Amino acid sequence: MGLIVQKFGGTSVANTERLQNVARIITETYRQGNQVVAVLSAQGDTTDDLIEKAREVNPRASKREMDMLLSTGEQISCALCAMAIEALGFPVVSLTGWQAGFQTNSNYSSAKIKTVHTERIQAELDRNHSIVIVTGFQGLNKYDDITTLGRGGSDTSAVALAAALKADLCQIYTDVEGVYTADPRHVKGARKLEEITFDEMLELASQGAQVLHNRSVELAKKYRVNLEVLSSFANKPGTKVKEVVKRMEKTQISGVAKDKNVARLALVGVEDKPGIAYRVFSLLGKEDINVDIILQSIGRDDTKDISFTVKRDDAEKAADLLNEYKESIGFDHIDVDKEVVKVSIVGAGMVDDAGVAAKMFGALYDADVNIQMISTSEIKVSVLLDENDANAAVQAIHDKFFGE
Ligand code: ASP
Ligand code: MG
Repeated sequence: MGLIVQKFGGTSVANTERLQNVARIITETYRQGNQVVAVLSAQGDTTDDLIEKAREVNPRASKREMDMLLSTGEQISCALCAMAIEALGFPVVSLTGWQAGFQTNSNYSSAKIKTVHTERIQAELDRNHSIVIVTGFQGLNKYDDITTLGRGGSDTSAVALAAALKADLCQIYTDVEGVYTADPRHVKGARKLEEITFDEMLELASQGAQVLHNRSVELAKKYRVNLEVLSSFANKPGTKVKEVVKRMEKTQISGVAKDKNVARLALVGVEDKPGIAYRVFSLLGKEDINVDIILQSIGRDDTKDISFTVKRDDAEKAADLLNEYKESIGFDHIDVDKEVVKVSIVGAGMVDDAGVAAKMFGALYDADVNIQMISTSEIKVSVLLDENDANAAVQAIHDKFFGE
């Protein structure tokens, strides 16, 4: 018994039948003696549909009005869910983000949560013994304007609320049964993990294993919110995300991830003198272009090449920006390659195991895949590959680490 925050994603509340299923999950948790706060996303494709509607009216609508519009999707699912719970005969109240006390900054359409004033929710739980349904993805800024948290932001709403309420558990209900060793739709033999650490989850999420919104995991780590990722369609335990995990099975890594949102830029013929890397990467930094893997070739004939990766959507912007400063930076030309993919292995146990990277490279060699770039951290090894090699590479690496 305790206080449980449950979050249900768009597919879990997509239609009446699914909403009723969610109402059953929530009321069952309540019936077992828990206080329950449920955070909901908009139904199915509602948010996409609203964005499309806005485009028809004004493709350059202000972000403030976009937030006004997009926040309505979550109101619909929450009101309907509350009605479904009423129909089952349980006390329930639905609240918008602002009624629930979500205060954000004023960065419309990607606002950050500053605080959650939980008095109202607490009163509903303690005094009225109500189940509380809260709209995800939204809050109020200091001007009393509605803001939204960015796509997929309901996970973050749920974790922030769990932290503010000091909830015993935050369950993220979604359409997959948990976090897997690789994408189960594409990789043979991928299996569900019982537990994973926050750090591993963060790496897997930012490597493209899109189960949880990244910010929600960062928040969970910071406030030590116990998370569980599970399916609203299967009645079984999911994956627990926590500080430290005890590994039952002796696996060296927790998963393999593939990230397609990446492009490689190469500055060719850069002068071999101090200060160039500083200029290049501070220019990109000022424009908020995140650089991931960096590789500098050995100088030859007084020139060298600097290659690096950025998000694929940032590739043109980065190339244009650097070309603008071509004279002052001093390079011959820029190559842009968008047909690349980043494949990573992630595991907290990697630090103590020197053979892990070699094992990964061995799998790639066996699969005849060429590596373009490599980067490593304490819990991750990433390689940049040709896009066409990606699936074979992931499968080969997965087989190597998780095969019989
Ligand atoms: N409805 C919002 C979206 O589609 C927020 C969320 O689902 O988390 O991005
Ligand atoms: Mg989501």
